[in-house]
Amino acid sequence: MAKEQAVSELTKEEATRELGPLRDQLRTWGEEYYEQDAPSVADYVYDRAYQRLVEIERRFPDLVTPDSPTQRVGGQTESQLKKVTHEIPMLSMGDVFSPEELADFNRRQQANSAVDVDFDYNLELKIDGLSLSLVYENGKLVQGSTRGNGTIGEDVTENVKTIKSVPKKLSAPLSLEFRGECYMPKEAFVKLNAQREADGQPVFANPRNAAAGSLRQLDPRVTARRQLDTFMYYVPDFQALGVTTQAEALEKMKELGFTVNPNYRVVHSQAELTAYIEEFTAKRNQLPYEIDGIVEKVNDLATQVDLGSTVKVPRWEIAYKFPPEEQATVVRDIVWTVGRTGNVTPTAVMDPVQLAGTTVSRASLHNPAYLAQKDIRLGDTVLLHKAGDIIPEISQVIIEQRPDDSQPYQVPTTCPECGAELVHLDDEVALRCINPMCPAQIKEGLAHFASRNAMNIDGLGPKIIEHLFDRGLVKDVADLYRLKAEQLLTLPKFGDKSVSNLLTAIANSRHNSCERLLFGLGIRHVGVKVAQLLAAEFGSIDALMRTPLETISAVDSIGPIIGDSVATYFANEQVHQLIGELKEVGVNMTYLAPTAPATASDEWQDKRVVLTGKLTKMTRGQAQEWLTARGATVTGSVSKKTDLLIAGEKAGSKLEKAQTLGILVWNEDQFDQAMKEEN
Ligand code: NAD
Repeated sequence: MAKEQAVSELTKEEATRELGPLRDQLRTWGEEYYEQDAPSVADYVYDRAYQRLVEIERRFPDLVTPDSPTQRVGGQTESQLKKVTHEIPMLSMGDVFSPEELADFNRRQQANSAVDVDFDYNLELKIDGLSLSLVYENGKLVQGSTRGNGTIGEDVTENVKTIKSVPKKLSAPLSLEFRGECYMPKEAFVKLNAQREADGQPVFANPRNAAAGSLRQLDPRVTARRQLDTFMYYVPDFQALGVTTQAEALEKMKELGFTVNPNYRVVHSQAELTAYIEEFTAKRNQLPYEIDGIVEKVNDLATQVDLGSTVKVPRWEIAYKFPPEEQATVVRDIVWTVGRTGNVTPTAVMDPVQLAGTTVSRASLHNPAYLAQKDIRLGDTVLLHKAGDIIPEISQVIIEQRPDDSQPYQVPTTCPECGAELVHLDDEVALRCINPMCPAQIKEGLAHFASRNAMNIDGLGPKIIEHLFDRGLVKDVADLYRLKAEQLLTLPKFGDKSVSNLLTAIANSRHNSCERLLFGLGIRHVGVKVAQLLAAEFGSIDALMRTPLETISAVDSIGPIIGDSVATYFANEQVHQLIGELKEVGVNMTYLAPTAPATASDEWQDKRVVLTGKLTKMTRGQAQEWLTARGATVTGSVSKKTDLLIAGEKAGSKLEKAQTLGILVWNEDQFDQAMKEEN
């Protein structure tokens, strides 16, 4: 990359020349990030440029202008959401990028303070979401808003009410404002992006942008589906709360009913501060939410007031930002795969590199627009990082290392699997193969039908489906139920036992409640939750098929887009035929509402349970179904809130974590016994 001139060597003329384009670039990136929730560069690329602006302005203070990005908080609020004025501005936060810079900051801060003792600091995780203000009157939630430009934010009250962790009523009748972070857990982010990719929609760059895009919706039903969460951390009027330190404020907020991040710690020395940074630098990848650093706050609230703020940031807090985890590698190929819904997705295949604990050699390029925007070409050296600490993503191409003979990448015009012409549907960014006979789509559809959350046919994975399809034994989902033992015996590595197991699993799936079938059919926009809602509401597939679009759309949390998709699907003659065939082979078409024992029980109601390892007496899906039917919540990761971990064979890191946190652990036998006793 071209080497930047050191700020200390710049003449004033050179600085003036550089400032205009630098500020414009930062404004453009800020607009993409704050207003469109769609950044085109990784945060550390922005941070680097911003840092340079800070340094130039520090060296030439008379070049600072009021409209410089260093003097303004966040973005404008151009959305159609109603506006809210923040009486007490919601500020941004200063940042440092190394423990040494942090120690310098602390020295300066303490030297500038009238307080003559060393400060205690409260350390907190810097949750990568967006700031949220919640206003309560007499203990009742009356307003939720975003930060916006610090003075004017957006009214998201109705959206906020859909977030489970936001109390609608406090445990005391206070009239007060509380602030914190609204975020999207990593797991929800991964699921949302997978769904958006399948639906041909642009994906979110990271959980922070996904959270912002989800909270700033005009339709609260969309927010409700996005699984947002909150951690609250600030009370502007702390006197009204009767607390004197930040740590007390957090405890008080917990008592009132807010969710407060449990990992805060008051430290009294540099050694404790360093230990905290080291601890969470190591742990950050394991947390179920993304953090981009650590926030250090002066613990004494009166001292915070004394220290005050600049126009943009409080002087009593600072963020230590983690160094970016990125690796350079070379793009060797771009492969295109066809999904269940016909979307054709490009994936970059690169020289393998180690990144945040795993070897990475592939990264999704999502869609042709993304590929074109980043101008990624074969042979390019690229920087790779992990979005949400999980999904490998190309953050930028190193243009200076591009081979001389490089050519722009040509997007295919025909389906790599069936050769049909590819199209863009409506306003989608995705390319689609719309050939209903495309073998790749049929195989993906069969695998989806058999998957755990759909018909849950144990042992029927993508490899076996590929064999069955390629041999002409199965061409649609009804064929699965017509398979014979002698046909399965022709599959590689299939003996009597595996054949019998698979046939039993297929036969058993005929008795599933119909929401599994509804989800398994792969109707656009019908995920597990929507299928459950529709099945419970209409009682059977036949009833749903007869229901007009308006009635389906009117169901709570369904709406016109899903309604239209369901009605269009069931209006299709081929679908009628398929449903008829499924009936013929004995697949259940009705909703089997959980019966007497499977209702919430005192024992399990509101318990948070995690399943890990291999279960032998039941499938995970069955265990999960049994637990949720009794009011328990089954979550994917162990945290302090977990009540019970059920550990099957070869349980790994989740078991270790549960043991460290002192959480109750059962083996499968203990769980099986409990199930028998309960039934
Ligand atoms: P910030 O997000 O870096 O830090 C301030 C915010 O941290 C607060 O407003 C608050 O919402 C949040 N926060 C999280 N946990 C907290 C805690 N425990 N206590 C207090 N606050 C907590 O600052 P910003 O001004 O919102 O945004 C600047 C950042 O946004 C930059 O550092 C950059 O990484 C990113 N950005 C990226 C792009 C891009 O194009 N990629 C563009 C603009 C900004």
